Amino acid sequence: RTLTAIITGASSGVGLQAARALVQKGNWHVIMACRDLPKTEQAARDVALPPGSYTILPLDLASLNSVRQFVQLFRETGRSLDALVVNAAIYMPRLKAPLFSEDGYELTVATNHLGHFLLCNLMLEDLKHATASPPRLVVLGTVTHNPKELGGKIPPQPDLGNLEGLAAGFKSPHVTIDDKKFEPVKAYKDSKVCNILTMREMHHRYHAETGIIFNSLYPGCVATTALFRNHYPLFQYLFPRFQKYITGGFVSEELSGDRVAAVVADPQYAQSGVYWSWGNRQKSGREAFIQEVSDQAGDDAKAARLWELSARLVGLA
Ligand code: NDP
Repeated sequence: RTLTAIITGASSGVGLQAARALVQKGNWHVIMACRDLPKTEQAARDVALPPGSYTILPLDLASLNSVRQFVQLFRETGRSLDALVVNAAIYMPRLKAPLFSEDGYELTVATNHLGHFLLCNLMLEDLKHATASPPRLVVLGTVTHNPKELGGKIPPQPDLGNLEGLAAGFKSPHVTIDDKKFEPVKAYKDSKVCNILTMREMHHRYHAETGIIFNSLYPGCVATTALFRNHYPLFQYLFPRFQKYITGGFVSEELSGDRVAAVVADPQYAQSGVYWSWGNRQKSGREAFIQEVSDQAGDDAKAARLWELSARLVGLA
């Protein structure tokens, strides 16, 4: 029996390798949910996905309209949904001023959090009718969300405040979640805290009732991906080497994809509400363990409030 997974942002990096690794398991069909279709077709060929093992569908997370259209297009395929992987993200460390999504929201949080928030909410219905039992919703986390970890100590640290910016409507001039000054690296980290809070809130709301497994993982530092394409060239040269030889946190794109696919498909990861990690210093054969999330990402009251405000911003409430 073939199972179906949707992976957002499967046109490069971790998402592409996760698609490759899932298809290699033999019983998975992958929906590559991407904004650049020719690029995605080429990427699928680059990792030798066999024809018939994947479908490319358009999704631009920076447009709530596109998210709704994507859900429609997926339903028209007639496939059941067995896993949804929340992977796509942008990171724009050199921005001097915020950019905006089609809906007028700050672009990093709109893409990484709000677009995915709407997608996850709409696709819960599809996951409830999965052929896999139980279905899974897997969210990519990052060590940089967590100031308790070495990799999360580098400033600026994420800070959602009391979600004042979201409460004020999150349109200019309210362009940050805490309604303070815009800083693009912080916007990325804030959005990743939101991803984990959303995963934990979905677990609290829906796991017992539906059996769906909601979890998150930090695959390691995949320092070579296009995520860093907007960084200075010198950073792009030094960062992978720094992670390889100094911190020991470096993980290849292939291994990161294998890890995502394992959390999507393998029985030992069938636990809901948790955050998987292989630690910061990589050693071969290292086993995954459940890691504590940051204080903010573990704050239940914040998760509930974020849910309520995000639902309003994406038009669900
Ligand atoms: P990449 O930049 O290689 O991949 C990001 C993907 O997101 C691309 O496919 C990109 O599409 C897609 N994307 C960006 N914006 C949109 C949009 N508006 N709509 C649809 N898709 C979009 O980054 P990585 O593979 O490194 O990152 C993937 C995930 O892994 C992220 O969630 C990141 O936070 C997480 N992660 C990465 C780590 C790392 O060290 N690299 C470490 C820990 C977590 P396009 O090809 O069109 O640009």
